[in-house]
Amino acid sequence: MTVTERSGITVRDLTMEYVSGDYVVRPLDNLSLEAGDGELVVLLGPSGSGKTTLLSVLAGILTPTSGTVGVCGRNPSKLSPDELNDYRRATVGIVFQGFNLIASLSARENAAVPLRLSGMRGAAVRRRADELLAQVNLADRAGHRPGRMSGGQQQRVAIARALALNPPVLLADEPTAHLDHVQVEGVITLLRRLAEPGRTVLVSTHDDRMIPLADRVIELAPRISEDTGPAEELTLAKGDVLFEQGSRGGRVYYVEAGRMEILRVQADGTEEHLIYVEPPAYFGEMGPMLGLPRSATARAVTKSVLTSYSVRDFRHRAGADERARGSGG
Ligand code: ADP
Ligand code: MG
Repeated sequence: MTVTERSGITVRDLTMEYVSGDYVVRPLDNLSLEAGDGELVVLLGPSGSGKTTLLSVLAGILTPTSGTVGVCGRNPSKLSPDELNDYRRATVGIVFQGFNLIASLSARENAAVPLRLSGMRGAAVRRRADELLAQVNLADRAGHRPGRMSGGQQQRVAIARALALNPPVLLADEPTAHLDHVQVEGVITLLRRLAEPGRTVLVSTHDDRMIPLADRVIELAPRISEDTGPAEELTLAKGDVLFEQGSRGGRVYYVEAGRMEILRVQADGTEEHLIYVEPPAYFGEMGPMLGLPRSATARAVTKSVLTSYSVRDFRHRAGADERARGSGG
């Protein structure tokens, strides 16, 4: 592998924190990695492990809390707005989980969007767009709109579009997440083929079928909570939110008095009631024990008194208190 000043990706001691309410979520904690020229690097990790966060930092969309990244010798968080525009167009090509194609445009016109934005005009646009579609094996679909293509074909158009200005780095965020088994194959082999001298391909996934093809696998493993603080009693007023779905926390809660609701927030923002938790019962053990983000939100239905425990102390109490039942979270 060769990581030089001018090619590949270097990440040094990268930390990214989000503050949401009372919680600090730190999906990336002192991460360091390298990806060399010509390499296919797979970023493996379950949902919530910070894959999108890392790719967003590399893409110049998020500024990290600390640490540095170098992409072909450039650090996106150090660029001026003009330089950043140029960086996002010409240095990194980005493929998202959803294909984000324009429904009213043909495959060729979709692939041509970055070309037109960069000022290319006339026959050159069509020539280059067709070249791009050939590169992703879709020469015969150039005139088709996204609605008439399979998910795998749409994702390949999105890849063609990301390659339009021939960026030396291609970032793909779970590019196979919405594809069926057969379509995944075509996208994976294409990404493998695109990792060639002059280009680095970094792909996030939780699909382990990509592992055998990777030059390098970076695991973003969620860490088991290191919280060992003592048990604490807390009182919530009616309507108070204890923790939110997607946040990380190390505590498990027993309801001593009152009533808590566990609910899930859907993609469209509506709430799905899961369960009420009343004494003697606990909730919130799943996230901390498995090292995953909270799978649901916890809110007080009435004024409630809770005791919070570290996982270690929780195991202790749960063993001693067999009447209690858990409610996930
Ligand atoms: P992945 O892509 O691996 O699923 P993400 O990078 O999207 O992981 O998220 C990592 C963690 O950071 C999650 O716990 C998520 O809830 C949290 N997170 C992501 N974006 C934000 C944000 N804008 N504000 C607060 N927390 C966030
Ligand atoms: Mg993600």
